[in-house]
Amino acid sequence: MINVFQPSLGEKELAAVAEVFESNWLGHGPRTKAFESEFAAHIGADPEQVVFINSCTAGLFLATELLELGPGDDVVMPSVSFVAAANAVAATGARPVFCDVDPRTLNPTAAQVESALTARTKAVLVLHYGGYPGDIAAIAELCRARGVKLVEDAACAVASRAGETACGTFGDLAVWSFDSMKVLVTGDGGAFYARDPELARRARTLAYHGLEQSSGFSAAKVSHRWWELNVRNFGRRIIGNDVTAAIGSVQLGRLPENIARRREVAETYDRLLSDAAGVRLPPPLPEGHTGSYYFYWVRLDPAVRDQVAADLLDRGIYTTFRYPPLHRVPAYGATHLRLPGAEEAAETTLLLPLHQGLDDTDVRTVADELRKAVENRSADPAGGE
Ligand SMILES: *Cc1c(COP(=O)(O)O)cnc(C)c1O
Repeated sequence: MINVFQPSLGEKELAAVAEVFESNWLGHGPRTKAFESEFAAHIGADPEQVVFINSCTAGLFLATELLELGPGDDVVMPSVSFVAAANAVAATGARPVFCDVDPRTLNPTAAQVESALTARTKAVLVLHYGGYPGDIAAIAELCRARGVKLVEDAACAVASRAGETACGTFGDLAVWSFDSMKVLVTGDGGAFYARDPELARRARTLAYHGLEQSSGFSAAKVSHRWWELNVRNFGRRIIGNDVTAAIGSVQLGRLPENIARRREVAETYDRLLSDAAGVRLPPPLPEGHTGSYYFYWVRLDPAVRDQVAADLLDRGIYTTFRYPPLHRVPAYGATHLRLPGAEEAAETTLLLPLHQGLDDTDVRTVADELRKAVENRSADPAGGE
């Protein structure tokens, strides 16, 4: 089976984990601190602005808590978003307000975000589809002008930049995912960023029970009763640990080579499929933008898309679609919306395998099989069951 996403882990990650075992300290500790600093340097932030947590989803919930969202508040987000973003908003009693996306990039334009703003809008929550930064600089500008907070779900965008600025550092708060299907993996994990160091400090506290000071014997210097505690905000327990942080440090070191290979794969698809009938390629990255090559997607005639996916699966090639539009999910209360860009994307888009473990033969196989499947199904959309 040629997987659509796949991590690459090797001897170096194993050696880093072995070192953690030898230290006999698996919890939050020196490797967590080191990974936070390395990741902060990678995105051009200060280490105190970054918290290593146990998932991006946990970070999205933390973000909505720091924004003090509640009933009566609106949060604008593209309908083509990951389910966790809408859940984190809706769980506070606030309303996710879905805007449309450009069906070619599957990102919202600044104008699409703007058209969904209301007097009740407290925040905008956007992602960078497949690692494409999108209109993020203009969206950040819009949010500043309107006095609305900007949260970036940078789960797809670990290496993405628009100009010199890393995705995730355009807005007020951001989260990255290091889950096992992402570009940089730690098993489970995520990074949380706050522009305001005071908010970052609160995030750090809330990520560990809301404890105001660290307990344990390291606190013995300041208190003879080092087991006592104080809490002002009721926190969660969503911190990362030294095992996953150690993997993260190695993966961060590998990131440039992994991104380079992913880019090669994407460019090979571009070349091999440039003249394939019935296959529309993803748009080129705009000048000055850097991608993470998380998704490679094609757009097909909606009459054949699902069957092409099924045919490829029969041939051992796993494809998928991300992210099914959330305005169609009844629980979010927005099924009355018509968002033609998101709806078109949902009917036409198919993600092809893209990861650094693909060799040139795999890439050629995917391109050839896609071509064949589209040709067969276009000739006879109903046949060949
Ligand atoms: C994967 C993903 C998430 C969730 O990440 P976890 O670390 O698994 O919680 C959130 N947003 C987007 C856009 C994602 O792709």
